[in-house]
Amino acid sequence: HRIIAAGATREDDAIEASIRPKRLDEYLGQQPVREQMSIYIEAAKHRSEALDHVLIFGPPGLGKTTLSHVIANELGVNLRTTSGPVIEKAGDLAALLTNLQPHDVLFIDEIHRLSPVVEEVLYPAMEDFQLDIMIGEGPAARSIKIDLPPFTLIGATTRAGLLTAPLRDRFGIVQRLEFYSAEELGRIVRRAARILDIDCADEGAIEIARRARGTPRIANRLLRRVRDYAQVRAGGRIDREVADAAMKMLKVDPEGFDDLDRRLLNLIIENFDGGPVGVDSLAAALSEERGTLEDVIEPYLIQQGFLVRTARGRMATVKAWRHLGLAPKRDSGL
Ligand code: ADP
Repeated sequence: HRIIAAGATREDDAIEASIRPKRLDEYLGQQPVREQMSIYIEAAKHRSEALDHVLIFGPPGLGKTTLSHVIANELGVNLRTTSGPVIEKAGDLAALLTNLQPHDVLFIDEIHRLSPVVEEVLYPAMEDFQLDIMIGEGPAARSIKIDLPPFTLIGATTRAGLLTAPLRDRFGIVQRLEFYSAEELGRIVRRAARILDIDCADEGAIEIARRARGTPRIANRLLRRVRDYAQVRAGGRIDREVADAAMKMLKVDPEGFDDLDRRLLNLIIENFDGGPVGVDSLAAALSEERGTLEDVIEPYLIQQGFLVRTARGRMATVKAWRHLGLAPKRDSGL
């Protein structure tokens, strides 16, 4: 069971909604993205046009959904949200699009998982605000065109490489979210603590931030679990020692790695002599999906320099050997 990436409970969802930033100035970190988006939003409003379509990519929990809420709020329009796998038929997409008001935002999460048929319908919708759909079958089939209100499509995906080229090319604005620094996550934790009325010292917030894998969703979840611990064991106040003790209990180590991160590094080092080893072998050995490894686990380990992707497979770096308390066995050049 993965505390830092596990599915949220209903209570967690309600809390998430209460702390999710609504305006650009509450959206902390991601400085270049915020700066660019504030200009594009202001320009679109000034011209009374729909904002150009936006593609947001980055690992889970970095704020793709939140950014789409913020964009719609700043534009002063409605936001409709859906996800790639949910839109099964061309008709499902047509229903969504024809229900939009002018300049509304349609958010499609996991947009790389749209079916090819639905994607075909999306192209003219994005380009000319026109729906081109076939009705009926066989000789009686005919195509009809429907005009759509100008709208903004925001697509989110974990990796830009997962998108087909024609779809990617139809986004005028492409934003890539980066992992957050500990300082930025510290500000996010302090903001969440304030909203949730949690007594959290600055050093406590930083301790949580440092172990949140650069990810706001994880920071917010850790904050709630540390609060539980503080309530039962420490009179409700989160300071550095309390945060540290709670994190030990949660098995989140000083790098913010949890069991699965350590199992992955251990596997590469102990079973494959540090690598290189193919991602499919790793996924099989860990009983995890390849996609989970690639999108959820690996990006942070790579960004932090514990793992590298080479043409021949994954390799653990010297940093990874040391983190596990081992001396690198041979000179791998890493
Ligand atoms: P994604 O869609 O990329 O998986 P979310 O947008 O759902 O991630 O973000 C997860 C949570 O993290 C949000 O509910 C929000 O509370 C918090 N969050 C994300 N980005 C930020 C940010 N830039 N500033 C403050 N909180 C953030």
